[in-house]
Amino acid sequence: MATHHVIIGGGPAATNALETLREHDPQARITLVCDEPAHSRMALPYWLSSQIPREHTMTADDGYYDRLQIEARIGSRVTGIDHAAKQLSLANGESLGFDKLLVATGSSPTGLPVEGGELPGVQPLWTLDDTAGALSAVDGKSEPRVVLVGAGFIGFIVLNAMHKRGWRLAVVEREAQVLPRMLDAGAAGVVEAWLQSRGVAVHTGATVQAIRAPNGEAKVVELDNGQRLEADLVIVATGVRPNLECVQGSGIEVDEGILVDEHMRTSLTDVYAAGDVAQGPVLFDEAKAIHAIQPTAIDHGRVAAANMAGRDVRYPGSLSMNVLDACGLQCASYGNWGDARAEPMTIANPRDHVYRRLLWTGDEITGAIFIGRSNDLGMLTDVGMVKGIMQTRTRFGDWKAYLAENPFDIRRPYVATRVAEKLVGTTLLGRPARSRGFHYGGAGAQPAAGAAHAAYMTTRGG
Ligand SMILES: Cc1cc2nc3c(=O)[nH]c(=O)nc-3n(C[C@H](O)[C@H](O)[C@H](O)COP(=O)(O)OP(=O)(O)OC[C@H]3O[C@@H](n4cnc5c(N)ncnc54)[C@H](O)[C@@H]3O)c2cc1C
Repeated sequence: MATHHVIIGGGPAATNALETLREHDPQARITLVCDEPAHSRMALPYWLSSQIPREHTMTADDGYYDRLQIEARIGSRVTGIDHAAKQLSLANGESLGFDKLLVATGSSPTGLPVEGGELPGVQPLWTLDDTAGALSAVDGKSEPRVVLVGAGFIGFIVLNAMHKRGWRLAVVEREAQVLPRMLDAGAAGVVEAWLQSRGVAVHTGATVQAIRAPNGEAKVVELDNGQRLEADLVIVATGVRPNLECVQGSGIEVDEGILVDEHMRTSLTDVYAAGDVAQGPVLFDEAKAIHAIQPTAIDHGRVAAANMAGRDVRYPGSLSMNVLDACGLQCASYGNWGDARAEPMTIANPRDHVYRRLLWTGDEITGAIFIGRSNDLGMLTDVGMVKGIMQTRTRFGDWKAYLAENPFDIRRPYVATRVAEKLVGTTLLGRPARSRGFHYGGAGAQPAAGAAHAAYMTTRGG
């Protein structure tokens, strides 16, 4: 009998998992259960900035599910797992059996528990509805005033989208610096000065005490330092937590998220987890962690599915990486960028908005921070090369001393230590990466490889 695989979720972890499952198990019965239409959260800021319409955030549709022969239960919510009986309970009272289960339920914003935190126009930017709500809160206003509460990775991605629209922006952050879980204080100082020069008001070390709407729609955000910020819209981006409700009572082992091994297996037989909800292996650390980013969700989904289909695929671990454009200033950090035991190599030129820090463990780069203008192509390629160096865990040997003398010449050691070659030969599933099987309206990337691709592939050797 065909195995029945059930996937809970519809984000990148789930969609990549179902394509991998179908590839490796053409006969399997596959059911997807998700309470929202499948879409890409990271595309929502592009809708907010009016660069794309809402439909372009979608990552699957009925035709796609039919083609892959997926039974998609969109709008259904899983409320519990009976592992012994291999049954899920659904919010509509039905139950659904499974042979193998993937939990890819993602995470949700934590919210702002202060007076006025529930007012209309005070909201996160996490879902399709949130994005529609934000657009409607500023509808008809020529220069809407927005206060962003929480200066973290997601908040800054949203900030950048709003900056593109020319909205009047203020940021409130409880900690002493912006991007506290992504940048050290030196890098954050460069970013704060840049934002202020771009007209974004930055309030660090400040806490929101209450939000009031004394005269109807317009809001006043009251800070603990006595300041009052006026706003048409308040975006709350104070953090996320994994969606664990449906696994409660199932006996699954949970720490901050669902604990998974290098095969994405949980503590329950035949139950796997992937994406923002999963706490799994990471590069440069023994301890498991949640890396709530899209690349990790995709890798997790693919590895989990290959193993569900009977293959033996080990995940080498995710690289903590955050890359964003803060209103024209590119910010990136990788790995253990704040490791006090590592040996730092730092270049800081705040006047030109440049900050770079490499963290060395022996002759290996185990953490990195980059700040530079988004139109500085040299810096952008350096950011990409350092990511490759870290993902391939390349040791630098004598090239470490070279880099100390020539800190802006990453390209030479990158070539000499053959990082590009190693990257080309690295695959998660033992085959070259493929583009996803869905493009909105059938448009998108060309499936046929062009001449440039052929030339590139011939350099792979072997
Ligand atoms: C505005 C924004 C911008 C972002 N930008 C970036 C970026 O630039 N780069 C980056 O790397 N990451 C970015 N992220 C983060 C990235 O989107 C997440 O890491 C990614 O979506 C996680 O994928 P996932 O499949 O684990 O979960 P999700 O995408 O959250 O999908 C999980 C799905 O499961 C559903 N679900 C949950 N519980 C149940 C249940 N019990 N029953 C049925 N369905 C359920 C949820 O409603 C959701 O639809 C961004 C996120 C946001 C919000």
